[in-house]
Amino acid sequence: MSYNHSRPTYIKFQGRTVKLVRKDFSTFMKALNIVLFWVGGFMDRYWTTIGDTIYYPTWITISPLSDSFKRILGHELMHVEQFHKYGKFLMALGYLGPPFFFFTFRWKIEQRPWLYSIQNGAYTPEVAAGILHQAYARPWPKRWMQAWFEKHINEDLEFSYDIAGYWQ
Ligand SMILES: [Zn+2]
Repeated sequence: MSYNHSRPTYIKFQGRTVKLVRKDFSTFMKALNIVLFWVGGFMDRYWTTIGDTIYYPTWITISPLSDSFKRILGHELMHVEQFHKYGKFLMALGYLGPPFFFFTFRWKIEQRPWLYSIQNGAYTPEVAAGILHQAYARPWPKRWMQAWFEKHINEDLEFSYDIAGYWQ
């Protein structure tokens, strides 16, 4: 079944309205794609969260709320929580700042959401560390990231979500 992606999808999460937008319907994402030219597949592969907006990749034709995206949506909603905790400025520094100062913060931002993905069976610690290494500009040595995931694999993240409904 096809889904209308030309309009954003809205959901309620922790009392807030979170907007889901496919990347090809966002001028901002198209601009970011040019800046992040070194990230292969930014538009058609990766999900990106900024504030209360979750941008999903262009290959998705069904609803972004489909069961097949439940795990990745949980990961991105953890980022929504972080934006409220740290603020947009710190989050932007974590991603766009030079690695020399901000690499640890970038890793800090990603470690719990990636642990969530691992705990839900999306990746092994090794594969997750490999993707982070490649797509996030080497935030931390790959082996250290893998070891951190292995050490924390049974940790209770105290995160769950439930999508009661949506509107467009
Ligand atoms: Zn992430």
